[in-house]
Amino acid sequence: MSCRLLSADLGTTSLKVMVLDCGGQVEGSASEPIHTYTDGGNHEQKPSEWWQSFRKACSTLQSKGIGLDVDGVVCTGQMEDFIPFKDGRAETAVLYSDTRGSRGLTKRHLPPDVVTAFTGNDWKATTPLMKWLADECPERWDQVLFGSKDYLIYHLTGSSVCDPVNGTVTGMMDIHTRAWEEKLWEGSGISRRQLPRLLEPEETAGYVLKEAASQTGIPAGTPVYCGLGDGGAVTLAASAHAGDGQGYAYAGTTGWTAVPADTLTVSEEGSVFHLAAPQHGRFIKIMPLLNMGNVHQWAVHTWCGGDFEAFEQLMAEQVSVPGPLLFIPYLNGERNPVIDEKARGAFIGIDGQVTQSQMARAVLEGLAFSLKQTFVQAGIASSTLFLVGGGTKSRAFRQTVADVFQCRVQVSAEQERLASFGAAACAFRAIHTCSWVKAARAVQSVEEKDIIVAPDVSKKEELEQKERLFTEAAGRMRGLFDT
Ligand code: ADP
Repeated sequence: MSCRLLSADLGTTSLKVMVLDCGGQVEGSASEPIHTYTDGGNHEQKPSEWWQSFRKACSTLQSKGIGLDVDGVVCTGQMEDFIPFKDGRAETAVLYSDTRGSRGLTKRHLPPDVVTAFTGNDWKATTPLMKWLADECPERWDQVLFGSKDYLIYHLTGSSVCDPVNGTVTGMMDIHTRAWEEKLWEGSGISRRQLPRLLEPEETAGYVLKEAASQTGIPAGTPVYCGLGDGGAVTLAASAHAGDGQGYAYAGTTGWTAVPADTLTVSEEGSVFHLAAPQHGRFIKIMPLLNMGNVHQWAVHTWCGGDFEAFEQLMAEQVSVPGPLLFIPYLNGERNPVIDEKARGAFIGIDGQVTQSQMARAVLEGLAFSLKQTFVQAGIASSTLFLVGGGTKSRAFRQTVADVFQCRVQVSAEQERLASFGAAACAFRAIHTCSWVKAARAVQSVEEKDIIVAPDVSKKEELEQKERLFTEAAGRMRGLFDT
């Protein structure tokens, strides 16, 4: 089963394009920075710059001698964008992080439980997109796209498409049928013809047009597959490492625990979010954490002037934190296990002898305890934890997570490429008509290259005791800063 694929990942900060041969070998890759235009709560990017970056990356690959005569092109990227088109041109892409769309919420006419039944999610927590669409006068645009990768597909093929993973977060898709549901936007002025076609991730979106071929070097007529939003792509690639049906944890700027699910579960406590999974009829259950790498980074700045390696040295100075020293990492409010935007962080149990390295270690322990709470919430019990995201670059963080979970931690050696591998799996499945598991394993080398961290079993008792204290103290943060 061989084929060559071009896979692109258009993330918030960079575009990565790779050519891979589907024996788990990456022939070559190229990366271009992506600029965000920020003005207060406004977060925008320029679609024209996305396309320029894509062209540049293709040209870099060719200059390295990598042929772009591939069997298929597939893309992934940031989700929940609002990209309005007028006369075939898109001037701006409003990002998921933009806060302007918070108006117009009251325009939704359906009762919240009806919206949840369709979308699988609490409509207030899902997305600003629906609010944007209603606020921004639908008559001012002809069409809208919802993901950065869909803009690349549009340029390559002339087709406007959306995948079910990203479709979920628009708040306009029925998560069960994976089709747009008109009842969800009735009365807002939006018409169905303005929305992109919903395709499955492995479906063909179109074929590279002549003009796009001359701009990129990818031969005209090359199939372009729909692909999927990065949340789904990482989950798909992670399933090849963690095992099908197993959960994994993401430690990026923020964090989450994700677990594949066959049914939707309404959460009693905390914030649970569902995405449609790449596999038809399945879901991805996500428990988000507002505090993760951002808190690690704060600690690195506070004690080591932003030098990550100096922080690792500081962590190596001290083998354990004195019994009662705890850190509650809620610097930015929190969403799990309690939902409290106003919650804040705290050191608990410091005395006059406390050292910087003890405080630094308490910070990482606090993040690991917090992550473990979402695992418990998700009901995941596994002997190995697959961990992804930039936080895995920290040796100290990987070890702390292994110690707190008292299980092996597994990190992909190529974890920055996981989203691209997940996208490539969609094209592989389309070409070879195979199972998702087979496709996800075929496009990346798994296990032999992974980093494995074993837990320090001598810390088990001490950390379990501390975890009980953490759970108690973190629970008391709920509502503490309400006044
Ligand atoms: P995003 O969710 O924004 O894509 P990333 O996956 O890039 O985030 O992760 C960002 C986090 O990675 C930072 O907040 C920090 O915790 C961690 N990180 C980044 N660089 C390093 C490094 N050199 N050493 C250790 N940790 C790092």
